[in-house]
Amino acid sequence: MTAVDQRPAFLAALIEAGLFVPTGVKGVYGRGSQFEAVRFGLDDLITRSAVDERAEVLHFPPVIPRRMLESSEYLRSFPHLAGTIFGFEGSEAAAAEQFELASQHADWSGFQAMSDLVLTPASCYPVYAAVGGRPPLVAGGVTIDPGAAYVFRREPSDDPARLQMFHMRELVRIADPVTAVTWRDAWIDRGQALLADLGLDAAPDVAADPFFGRAGRMLAASQREQQLKVELLVQIAGPEPTAVASFNYHQGYFAHLNGIRLASGGEAHTACLGFGHERIVLALLRVHGLDPATWPATVRDRLRLAA
Ligand code: AMP
Ligand code: ZN
Repeated sequence: MTAVDQRPAFLAALIEAGLFVPTGVKGVYGRGSQFEAVRFGLDDLITRSAVDERAEVLHFPPVIPRRMLESSEYLRSFPHLAGTIFGFEGSEAAAAEQFELASQHADWSGFQAMSDLVLTPASCYPVYAAVGGRPPLVAGGVTIDPGAAYVFRREPSDDPARLQMFHMRELVRIADPVTAVTWRDAWIDRGQALLADLGLDAAPDVAADPFFGRAGRMLAASQREQQLKVELLVQIAGPEPTAVASFNYHQGYFAHLNGIRLASGGEAHTACLGFGHERIVLALLRVHGLDPATWPATVRDRLRLAA
């Protein structure tokens, strides 16, 4: 049986309840206090669940150096998702002309030059460069907690669960190959249990990133074949279940790119996991109702929502 697409009705209900505040741009919403209270509770629950990791906290703003993106494969793999920051550097006359065009909503892009910044596409990106700048890793490697950074993906949509800017709560493991992939695999189960405790029925599935173009289809097939990406899927409002968390094994890609080495001389590998904050909050609102005050006490307790 094909499930009905309830995304438009769900979006309208979120706005009506003040959980989402429309900005006029698809996939970009303000959020009301109830939504944010749940999101903060979720982030804290993830932090508590990961306490045994003794992860090093390393938070970054939602921009990365443009060079970092250029040095990675991102623009080959996901040119359609990248967000680039431009700025004005010109004369007073040029500024006046730019303003004139902009105020008429005409094309003022000719006055804008590419800056040295791009929007962060995944919260783990700046982590690898930071660790690459350090001495070689001790045995056992390192776990980094980059927190829930805002990330950008240029994928405008009417689906309330497909945002252009959202919070991705990551954890990153950098170690020898066996340690990295074992950690990734263990977290699939841990993530599933965390979501089950919140009343969310999440199923794991081997997945692929949305690689661009024809060449991208081959990259996606190879990623699937090697089971490098696993997602936890939950039914939100669309006809298909939506990925609310991802568990990635990058093999030696990021370590090599960023010069991360093990003190033992062995090859370093990396793995990361990303919980999509907004998608999990939306799934909770879908399952338990739009008013968190009426949610089951166990769920409210886990999220430490005030009475
Ligand atoms: P990814 O790096 O694509 O695996 O994304 C990590 C997690 O972020 C996914 O499992 C989703 O929960 C979330 N996510 C990815 N894309 C979006 C989006 N466009 N809107 C909201 N959440 C997203
Ligand atoms: Zn990551």
